[in-house]
Amino acid sequence: MSDSLPLPQKSWPELRPGWVWLCGAGPGDPGLLTLHGLNALRQADVVVYDALVGEDILSWAGTAELIYAGKRGGKPSAKQRDISLHLVELARAGKRVLRLKGGDPFVFGRGGEEAQTLVQHGVPIRIIPGISAGIGGLAYAGIPVTHRDVNQSVTFVTGHDQTGDTPGSLDWRAIAQGSQVIVIYMGMKHIAQIAQQLMAAGRSPSEPVAFVTSATLDHQNVVESTLGTAVDDAKAAGIEPPAIICIGRSVLMRQVLDWQSFESGAAPRNLDPLDRGRPAESA
Ligand code: SAH
Repeated sequence: MSDSLPLPQKSWPELRPGWVWLCGAGPGDPGLLTLHGLNALRQADVVVYDALVGEDILSWAGTAELIYAGKRGGKPSAKQRDISLHLVELARAGKRVLRLKGGDPFVFGRGGEEAQTLVQHGVPIRIIPGISAGIGGLAYAGIPVTHRDVNQSVTFVTGHDQTGDTPGSLDWRAIAQGSQVIVIYMGMKHIAQIAQQLMAAGRSPSEPVAFVTSATLDHQNVVESTLGTAVDDAKAAGIEPPAIICIGRSVLMRQVLDWQSFESGAAPRNLDPLDRGRPAESA
């Protein structure tokens, strides 16, 4: 166990044998792991981790056994069940088990299903939230997921459903009409269809869109686009997953809040991108 990363003085929870802690690792930058997450890593006998969990974070697991449980195509639901049952087995073998997932375990991460299976099998659990890519990833791109001049609501959408298609259960017309800002996870495969449905339901082709790939990591990339040109722009930029897509005027705030570019000396592009014409905090 590494002592090079001391936790602040506090009585931290103990990960006991036979328990599973389901923990979010954040969107990528290891600094975005929570202190509870670090506390868990330092106690686990075994860490079962997903594809988007970074190596730095895993290296903080000391001597724990590391088991990769990422899904690569195939039959996700069958595999998911195997992962959950494997966690049950490890817990029953008396291990201190840490299940580490990208972002937040309860945001499009099947954490709820895994946790339910564990509880159904009598395995005690603890949930450790993480920073979700659709919030923290956008923040690293300089996009506030809510902004008083833009939105009083935000809708998080997954571009896939259990069949791998665009979610047939989603009412895109209602989303288009009711959601000022739309944040899409796993949306690259179906972006053409999604953009088309939103425009057919009345969203403007000129509405701002941002693609944020590998958010919070060193190779983060942001492509600014519009609903009408999103498909072509994404193709031209050769966007690689994982990507978060943000649709809405909050994307414009990046013109003043792209703080990562300030580190390399760039100046803000526009100090008043929403054309308020008055100080940012006046009512
Ligand atoms: N539980 C995770 C989401 C898992 S679904 C969370 O709360 O963030 C996987 C999707 O999340 C990816 O397809 C992508 O849309 C998004 N995602 C996760 N990490 C990301 C990152 N670093 N950059 C951009 N998108 C990311």
